[in-house]
Amino acid sequence: MDHTKEILQQLPAALLPWYQEHRRDLPWRQEVSPYRTWVSEIMLQQTRVAAVIPYFQRFMAAFPTVEALAGCDTEQLLKLWEGLGYYSRARNLQKAAAIVQAGAFPQTYRELTALPGIGDYTAGAILSIAFHQPVPAVDGNVLRVASRLTGSRDNILDTAVRRRWRGIMESIMPADAPGAFNQALMDLGAMVCLPGGEPVCDACPAAAFCQARALGLQRQLPVRAGKPEKKVEHHTVFLLLQEGQAALRQRPDTGLLAALWEYPHVPGTLDEADAARQLEQWGLTPRRWVKSLKFRHLFTHIRWELTGYVAEVRGTGPADWLWADKEQRRQLAIPSAFEKLTREWA
Ligand code: SF4
Repeated sequence: MDHTKEILQQLPAALLPWYQEHRRDLPWRQEVSPYRTWVSEIMLQQTRVAAVIPYFQRFMAAFPTVEALAGCDTEQLLKLWEGLGYYSRARNLQKAAAIVQAGAFPQTYRELTALPGIGDYTAGAILSIAFHQPVPAVDGNVLRVASRLTGSRDNILDTAVRRRWRGIMESIMPADAPGAFNQALMDLGAMVCLPGGEPVCDACPAAAFCQARALGLQRQLPVRAGKPEKKVEHHTVFLLLQEGQAALRQRPDTGLLAALWEYPHVPGTLDEADAARQLEQWGLTPRRWVKSLKFRHLFTHIRWELTGYVAEVRGTGPADWLWADKEQRRQLAIPSAFEKLTREWA
């Protein structure tokens, strides 16, 4: 690792001037506070920057302080989050806000990582950006850049390897600009040292000492060995229409997409005859089958393969269903997993 460190020690001097010139102008950078950094980093965990910006702005307008977030109506919060996915992030933000508002914003790694939804990376981002502490924020982008710069073939999915990289990044962080350094790495990974075979090496401030570039290994690095396959689940989802209303039900309070609203669905892939029998079981009579379609939704560890039926029906269905018109539906948080089906609702 000594050689690795030697190479990376050249990084701050190359990266910081580049960052001053090329940094992305993002809303959470225009006005920096621990709260804004925290919310932006949570939103960015699974979502691209361009998609996050309008959500961040709406979120800050609705909940400008930790206290406002802690005391907000959860349904309003989930509605605001709709489309971003991974709703547990929103719930954890609210839970953590309730803890944080009791005292000052935590300023140590230990306190921050004890809060719901805050891991290594987010704690590093908050501490370095909002509190100017030399704590690294190492995610997949940083691991990619570090592996390429040093020509490392270590498996970045290995926990011990990630821990080692974290230690190395900590040892090379410039004490006087930790936030700028972490953000510069984020920007380099997002704009220049792109994933796949597409890094823009000619525009890279670290090109002169990059091992992957020297050896033509950009496509091979980083090494990600043994990534677990996503678990596949099959479901059949029903968009059931009746007098301008559609049937919805609320998911359980715990687990995937907890307490969000969904269109009724059953496990497995039902053909039309089975789908008709399912309607009967719910006490419904089909009047017209409008459409059937196949679609897919990806979660972090699960892939949903979905069969959808849009049908006009008669009957009330199970007691816990809600028949909602378009306006009511707009007020409820419905996960994007069902989006393709709702587009069929004219
Ligand atoms: S030179 Fe290319 S591969 Fe190396 S860090 Fe820069 S963009 Fe990435």
